[in-house]
Amino acid sequence: MEFPFDFIAIVRKVNRAAALTGAGVSQESGLRTFRDAQTGLWAQYKPEELASPEAFARDPKLIWDWYAWRREGVKAVRPNLGHYALVEMAHRIPDFTLITQNVDGLHRLAGSPQVIELHGNIQRVRCAECGAIVEDWDDDNAAVPRCASCGGLLRPHVVWFGEPLPRAELESAMEAARNCQIFFSIGTSGVVQPAATLAYAAHNRGAVVVEINTEQTPLTAKADFFFQGKSGEILPELVKAVWNSETINGEQ
Ligand code: NAD
Ligand code: ZN
Repeated sequence: MEFPFDFIAIVRKVNRAAALTGAGVSQESGLRTFRDAQTGLWAQYKPEELASPEAFARDPKLIWDWYAWRREGVKAVRPNLGHYALVEMAHRIPDFTLITQNVDGLHRLAGSPQVIELHGNIQRVRCAECGAIVEDWDDDNAAVPRCASCGGLLRPHVVWFGEPLPRAELESAMEAARNCQIFFSIGTSGVVQPAATLAYAAHNRGAVVVEINTEQTPLTAKADFFFQGKSGEILPELVKAVWNSETINGEQ
C-alpha cells in the first residue's frame, strides 16, 4: 500500500487521535462478522434474531446457548497484526483513544491500553433482572443459569439490538471523537448507530477522517482518506510507513 505523503505527514505530527473498530478487525483472527453467513447449528438464524431482548424473552435458552458457543469461539482465537498495530499506534500518538464495537476482547488481549468497549464484552455475564455482574456460572446446566442473589436469568453483558449503549462509554467515545485531530474508522460497516455517528462528529469538528475497510461503506464518501484492504495488512503497513516500525505479534 502506497500512502499519500500528506497522510503520512499528518499522522506523524498528530497529538490526538481516535479509532473506532468493528467486526472486520477481528475477521483475520477467524471471527465472523455479522455479515458473513452463520454456519452449522446456527445457520438457520440471523444474528439480529438472536441478539435482542425480545429473542431472550422468547427463548432464553436458545440465546444463552448461542452466546456460549460464541464465547468458546472467541476463546480459541488470538489477536492479529491489525490489533497489534493499534497497540503500537497508542504508544506513538500522545493521546490515542481506541473505541470498539467488538465484544471479543481482542484489543485488550493484544495489549491496547484504555479500550472503550461500546457493546460490552462477550466473556462477561450479568443478571437480566438486577444487573449484577456475575463472574462464575455453570454452563453445563440444562437450563439458563440464574443469579445467586435475586434468582433472575443470567445474560451476556453485551448490548443487544434495540438496547441503549452504556452511557459512560458512549460519552467518552463522543468526547474523543469531538476532540481528535484524526479519526480512524476501521473494519466497521458504519451502519450500526450510534457508533456510526462518531466519525461524523469528528468530521464536523474538522478532524481528518480515515477509513480502512475491505469494502466501501456509507462513510467512504465523507472520508478524507480511504484505504481499501484488510486491516491486518494495512495497519502494520501504516505503522511502518509513518514510524518505520515493524508490528510484531505480541505473543512471539
Ligand atoms: P459489520 O459486520 O456490520 O461490518 C464489518 C465490516 O468490516 C464490513 O464493512 C466489512 O467490509 C469489513 N471487513 C471485513 N473484513 C475486513 C478486514 N479483514 N479488514 C477490514 N475490514 C473488513 O460489523 P460492525 O460494523 O462491527 O457492526 C455490527 C455489530 O456486530 C456490532 O454491534 C458488533 O458488536 C457485532 N459483532 C461483533 C463481533 C466481534 O466482537 N468480533 C463479531 C460479529 C459482530
Ligand atoms: Zn440478580
